[in-house]
Amino acid sequence: MNMKTYADYHIHSEYSRNKHGKGTLEDITKRAVELGLEEIAVSDHGLKHFMFGIRTKNVKKAREEINELNKKYPQIKILQGIEANLTSMDGHSDINEVITKNCDIVLLGFHYGVTFRTIKDAFVLLVLNYFAKYSDKLRKKMIEINTKALEEVMHKYDIDVLTHPGDKIFVDIERIAKAAEETNTILEINDSHGHLNIEEIKKVSKYNVKFIIGSDAHSVENIGNCDNSIERAVKAGLDFKRIINIK
Ligand SMILES: [Zn+2]
Ligand SMILES: [Zn+2]
Repeated sequence: MNMKTYADYHIHSEYSRNKHGKGTLEDITKRAVELGLEEIAVSDHGLKHFMFGIRTKNVKKAREEINELNKKYPQIKILQGIEANLTSMDGHSDINEVITKNCDIVLLGFHYGVTFRTIKDAFVLLVLNYFAKYSDKLRKKMIEINTKALEEVMHKYDIDVLTHPGDKIFVDIERIAKAAEETNTILEINDSHGHLNIEEIKKVSKYNVKFIIGSDAHSVENIGNCDNSIERAVKAGLDFKRIINIK
């Protein structure tokens, strides 16, 4: 079996702050063309990620650049994306009007390094999630809180893709899949992070959800990477017709 993605919607550029992503938008485009990709999205970290987030002015600047690049490289379609953040326990995010106006595709994932909505949100989502590794009782409590937060964010906002579900925090992955089904949110099999992992793919594929492979490339060399994801999907017995960016 020789499967490949023809589109990669999870690529970070130099607009992710603090040199977190490496390439310029044109570097990324050239590399994607070289790989024969038909469509890409540059999806930098969301505005409230204080370590790596894109700045508002760069969302607008990237939009103009992408419009120009689409004219210059007609052999590929370049979308502007964002990897937005969950910012509160009741399902708020950093998706605002600037994002919805400029972005063609909206991804969202849970990340640390985010300015959470309130002190309490920060305490619970950062500190308690950290200690949840060490206590069964706390872990149970956090699974409930984290799952509910992600369910709510999917219902509150129009999110196209939930990135690396099951990564970084404990969740009830089946409830996440159910919310994804209800809200038409695609679940990512992230090639850089180990999630969705094999067990998770098995569980969530019982629901009527679609999947996407994202390289999560932070440098141009990793654009289009999909081998790890494909391996996990094969091992989980996933029907490849359900992965939207594979041929
Ligand atoms: Zn991420
Ligand atoms: Zn990412």
